[in-house]
Amino acid sequence: MNYRHIYHAGNFADVLKHAVLARLVTYLKQKDKAFRVLDTHAGIGLYDLSSEEAQKTGEWRDGIGRLMADPLPAAVQPLLAPYLDAVAALNSDHGPERGPDRGPDGSLARYPGSPKLTRMLMRPQDRLSAMELHPDDYETLHRLFDGDYQSRITELDGWLALGAHLPPKEKRGLVLVDPPFEEAGEYERLEKGLAKAYRRFPGGTFCLWYPLKQGAPIAAFHESLTALNIPKMLCCELTVKSDRGTTGLTGTGLIIVNPPFTLKGELDVLLPFLKDRLKQDRFASARAIWLRGEDRDVAADDDDA
Ligand code: SAM
Repeated sequence: MNYRHIYHAGNFADVLKHAVLARLVTYLKQKDKAFRVLDTHAGIGLYDLSSEEAQKTGEWRDGIGRLMADPLPAAVQPLLAPYLDAVAALNSDHGPERGPDRGPDGSLARYPGSPKLTRMLMRPQDRLSAMELHPDDYETLHRLFDGDYQSRITELDGWLALGAHLPPKEKRGLVLVDPPFEEAGEYERLEKGLAKAYRRFPGGTFCLWYPLKQGAPIAAFHESLTALNIPKMLCCELTVKSDRGTTGLTGTGLIIVNPPFTLKGELDVLLPFLKDRLKQDRFASARAIWLRGEDRDVAADDDDA
């Protein structure tokens, strides 16, 4: 396990993932009934963007840095508010002369990972279960949530949690599966993990993260997901640059099972904006498509060819 999320915290992939995560949690709050969020690959929860690691890659500058650098269009602002208000709240103690969102050098100082963002959006009746397998990252995450009775942090293989921790006793909630994709076969693992988890918790909402990069088997991945016969499955993808001449991350994708009925319309507003704000060259693109259900777009993967 070499992956450390501190090098990537707040990058363009985190922006899409966390913006959608915040939409999903916000939607769950529309009913009073308690929900649980299961975060199977949680990371350390709170990232110091001034740290040597974050500064070394500077990836956040082309993600959350760009997103917060300029005002948002009126149609986008309310959709991003739950996410960006949380980021702003974590950066609010750096002096009014710098503005509410800025660190001492004029840039963001802190960024919330998925468990922290979720926790900031939860109500008193809601619960978080977060798994982290890297021993040091588990320790850090555990310390962050020390004494918080609404959150349970476990040093456990997140793939096992998809069996052992589902269904949650609240019988409503969200499962975020955000693996590091550092080993071969992770797309297949994600698909098998979803199949297992969905059998145990068919009423739950699931959000799965995957990378877009040169040679990634996206069409085959979508096909195998579609074959699971899960009735409602939405996919959204954001590509920020061409994959020619690079083996690194050039885009990011999310699969959302049982999405709120409002999400597709929200993504149709958010994605074009994020593409424009975060693009790194003229090959940037974005799409939200149904893999199963609603107005399933049969030609969904034609543009992968
Ligand atoms: N979800 C986090 C967020 O959005 O802020 C980022 C998570 S990062 C992409 C993936 C994390 O999974 C890393 O912290 C890594 O140590 C952890 N990890 C890797 N394999 C794991 C496993 N089998 N079970 C649980 N955590 C694992």
